[in-house]
Amino acid sequence: METTGVLIACAVMGLLVGSFLTVVVDRVPRGGSVVAPPSACGACGSRLTAPDLVPVFSWLALRGRCRHCGTSIGKEPLVLEITNAVIFVLFGLRFGADPVLVAYCILGAALVALVWIDLREFRLPREISYTAFVLGAIALVIAALLNDEPERIWQAFLGAGIALAIMGAIFLLAKKMGGMGDGDVRLAPLLGLYMGYLNPGIVPIGLFFGFLLGAVVGVVMMGVGKAGRRTALPFGPFLALGTVIAVFIGQQAVDVIWQA
Ligand SMILES: [Zn+2]
Repeated sequence: METTGVLIACAVMGLLVGSFLTVVVDRVPRGGSVVAPPSACGACGSRLTAPDLVPVFSWLALRGRCRHCGTSIGKEPLVLEITNAVIFVLFGLRFGADPVLVAYCILGAALVALVWIDLREFRLPREISYTAFVLGAIALVIAALLNDEPERIWQAFLGAGIALAIMGAIFLLAKKMGGMGDGDVRLAPLLGLYMGYLNPGIVPIGLFFGFLLGAVVGVVMMGVGKAGRRTALPFGPFLALGTVIAVFIGQQAVDVIWQA
């Protein structure tokens, strides 16, 4: 029963944090504050109040429209809330009632926001990467101490260093070929931190998963004529997905490699 409780808590927290992410993806790319001013309708300026801000339910009740002027607010809040809740529940399944679950939910929320912005604007705001790194590092340190596994603190920071070194090297190599965004390099320590906490050995594997996914999708898009050789693909979503996959099966991949 404990597991069911954890998953329900993950779903509820995921929806609430997802609702906050709607503000983050809207304001951070424009340099705005995520705290003030309070959310308002973009069309009529009416301040959103509690009944407008219940994740999913408000959207369904008002069918995605402003209560006052009826202007469509789009599907963005609904998709963000549900996506974030799904990620939280997945991490709930992975970690159960362990203090480290909180830390991984911070990673999940940051990746949802970063992927969303990268798909829309082809960039990864450093404010989100750095804030998530600091909050994530604090949460991971607390979890390591509570679990009496202090060695994981060094593993996490080693992982961050490994990821930064690998992505930095690739960035320099790719420079001549028209390259990779520096936002991807700034994101690397965050990804490495979380993979390293589990095992620094899975950091290269997670990044490799990301590159593999990016290459496959790039080739498929060229195949169906949606992209040319020079079309820019946002790379953040692939790095994020590769990292999440590594959090789930990275250790198994390391074991397979060592046995081969
Ligand atoms: Zn309105």
